Amino acid sequence: MSVDRYDNPFERYSYKNPLIEALRNGQGELTAGRVTVRTARTFGFCWGVDRAVAMVWDALAQFPERRLWLLDQIIHNPHVNADFKARGVRFLRGPFADPSSEGELHADDVVVIPAFSATVEDMQHLRLVGCTIVDTTCPWVIKPHKRTLSYVKDGFTTVIHGLVRHEETRASCSLIASRGGRYVVVADHAQAELVCAVIRGQEPPGVLAERLPEGALSRGFDAAADLRQIGTVNQTTMLASETREIERLIRQAIADRDGETAARENFRELNTICRATQENQDAVEELAQGGALDLMIVVGGYDSSNTRNLTRVGAGRFPSYHVTGPDSIKPDEIVHRDPGGERLLRTPGWLPPGEVTIGFTAGASTPDTLLGATIRTVLACAGAMLPETVAPGAATRP
Ligand code: SF4
Repeated sequence: MSVDRYDNPFERYSYKNPLIEALRNGQGELTAGRVTVRTARTFGFCWGVDRAVAMVWDALAQFPERRLWLLDQIIHNPHVNADFKARGVRFLRGPFADPSSEGELHADDVVVIPAFSATVEDMQHLRLVGCTIVDTTCPWVIKPHKRTLSYVKDGFTTVIHGLVRHEETRASCSLIASRGGRYVVVADHAQAELVCAVIRGQEPPGVLAERLPEGALSRGFDAAADLRQIGTVNQTTMLASETREIERLIRQAIADRDGETAARENFRELNTICRATQENQDAVEELAQGGALDLMIVVGGYDSSNTRNLTRVGAGRFPSYHVTGPDSIKPDEIVHRDPGGERLLRTPGWLPPGEVTIGFTAGASTPDTLLGATIRTVLACAGAMLPETVAPGAATRP
């Protein structure tokens, strides 16, 4: 979907959508032709994303004469980033950066820190340059930061359930390293099992450096010494059930090695998944259990960790497609990301014949406009059209 273009780059764009408003304010259900649409109880822009996007708008209005930079994507949605780029916002790095951008900062520039936060090194660099910093870091991201600092202070190694390339986890790692602490990043159950095998002495310490992705271990990590006392946190947008399982696995591995009493001293945990992620996952679980769905469509950027994890909730029970928006969907094919990996898949025959019930949800960085356009495209693929104004809960049969 193309972003709208504007004569006035400072005119705020509303990401609201009448169809989504109708679904939100109604029962989250409507029928058109042979398709019944059911939406999750909560979905879409979270408080932290709303706030970050609003702060970019505020900066555009407040500093009209100055160059405005984003350190990287403000949130993980390509449409929102492309929209800001179209208004003249520059990107220092990431998929929206100009190749020549790096190193061009001046003291009179304004730099926006994304909702995910920034590394200690980035913040030091920006302060050195002397530019104005607009920090949109979500307060929920601060929670794991604070916890890791207490682990470092007490000599614990932090195990982060997160994605090693995700900005939020990179920021957590850099904070720990800046205080002389140690960390291990595990993305999933299999990587956590590997750490557990080393804790129990079933695998040699060197296996972690060999088999975990680059950047998953703090510099000079000594698995023999650095896994004695462990505290866990998680990236705020991970799958809650997987985090709980990883905490349980690591605690059990320490108990197996040290005994139950010592495990109480040598293991700490804090679930740092944010409320919006938790609520959206709970709502998708409810929809998956009670929605009598034939398939689910989850709308959000492919870089979006929380969107990916929403897709994983339904996967295995029925087809669950993570799409970026209406452009991913054609009557005979859907382009989507593999819920368990990185691959892009093309699935023909995704829309079953006859009456079909489709669940919809959207990641915390997905504008309602995109979800609304996606629902309309799906209905069009099934030969059903909706009027512009939709009554909540109405069974609309054209
Ligand atoms: S998903 Fe959670 S941590 Fe991320 S911006 Fe939203 S509220 Fe904050």
